[in-house]
Amino acid sequence: MSVQRLGRLDVGLEPVPGGARVTLAGRIDDASPLGELVAAIPAGDVVIDTSGVAFVNSVGMREWIRLVRVLRDRGLVTLERVSDVLMKQMNLIPELHTSVRVLSFHAQYVCNSCGAEAAPVVDAVEHAAGLARMQAPNMSCPECGTAMELGDFPERYLLMFRA
Ligand SMILES: [Zn+2]
Repeated sequence: MSVQRLGRLDVGLEPVPGGARVTLAGRIDDASPLGELVAAIPAGDVVIDTSGVAFVNSVGMREWIRLVRVLRDRGLVTLERVSDVLMKQMNLIPELHTSVRVLSFHAQYVCNSCGAEAAPVVDAVEHAAGLARMQAPNMSCPECGTAMELGDFPERYLLMFRA
């Protein structure tokens, strides 16, 4: 896998049969022209892991939409482990509800028993039926093991899955 730096964003790129696998980590902002990445990504289907994306601003979001549009013209765009901040931004943009397939994403959870907070990965395939009804699955608390609940309005994460 090759790694390059776009501003404050680390970009990992790995050609795979039929397309590419991309890993993004850091900040997507004015200093990360994602549109320029396209030339480096082999044509075909693309899987993007954004688990390490900690910050996205409005300029970064425009760049993200540009990137997805171009990749979408060349194949399927699948997202894995979408970071919490990116997931909330994507839910605000209807175009992104249909142009990508989200396999899993991070979401803020809170434990009502011990007060712990965490951002576990939610499997959107396993829980597809519940997500389509705007119901986030309960997740096990890393501190005490009881069921944690989503710590925010379901729409913030789940609008894009709504049936
Ligand atoms: Zn707990």
